[in-house]
Amino acid sequence: MLPPSPSRPLVLCLSGLDPSGGAGVQADIESVTALGGHALGVVTALTAQDTSNVTRVVATDPALLQQQLELLLLDSPPQAIKLGLLGGAEQVPVILEAIRRCRVPVVCDPVLRAGGGTLLHGDAAAQALRSELFGAVTVLTPNAAEARRLCPERADLDACGAGLLEAGCAHVLITGGDEPGASVVNTWYAPGQAPHRYTWPRLPETFHGAGCTLAAAIAALLARGLPVGAALQQAQEWTQGTLRQALRVGQGRRIPGRRA
Ligand code: PLP
Repeated sequence: MLPPSPSRPLVLCLSGLDPSGGAGVQADIESVTALGGHALGVVTALTAQDTSNVTRVVATDPALLQQQLELLLLDSPPQAIKLGLLGGAEQVPVILEAIRRCRVPVVCDPVLRAGGGTLLHGDAAAQALRSELFGAVTVLTPNAAEARRLCPERADLDACGAGLLEAGCAHVLITGGDEPGASVVNTWYAPGQAPHRYTWPRLPETFHGAGCTLAAAIAALLARGLPVGAALQQAQEWTQGTLRQALRVGQGRRIPGRRA
């Protein structure tokens, strides 16, 4: 059999399904497509939600997840992996096995709480992610609140960044959209490098699915072979553009405009 030679880099996206289309696997598919890749979408959880908040999360059976990944990895080995909302600690060994087999960059958006306030994972699940998964992560993209939840023992955000590197992540980008201030400051942490800050104009509203969009964009650019620094810069620029052309699809927050 001929080896696969896909015309677009493949990004395996393991994410929740948000029926509003703002976040989750739809955000991933649209972002990856817009940036020249093809998304392999594996749904980790179904959710009930609207553009304001999440009301229910139903995890995919780990055995089904495993079967989906088995088939995909044989048929369509990806050039990058993007992890979003996971359906609980039982899925982590299955996902780790897929990561081990692929040996490609892994972008992980540690989704712990919906923008509307609903807790999607408790403290125990957050600590399980940190201790079991982060050693396999190339770029972790927590927002400030998620970074603090993952590193409750750390005094400030820079200490959280250091703590997440110590937990095994190769790179960490803490986003500051959920912090106060006239600008949004995102900070890139990597071993042996001083924290690198990106300052973006703060837009006058919050969005539904911005974090998923940014993480998927980073994964798409890494799948195309960009180095991490260039992928972080270009993904943030592109995500800013999607927020400037955000769409109103419901009564709650607008969603990033990821299509031309
Ligand atoms: N639902 C799913 C499936 C998600 O992956 C996320 C975030 O990543 C959310 C909801 C919450 O999105 P937001 O915080 O932007 O509202």
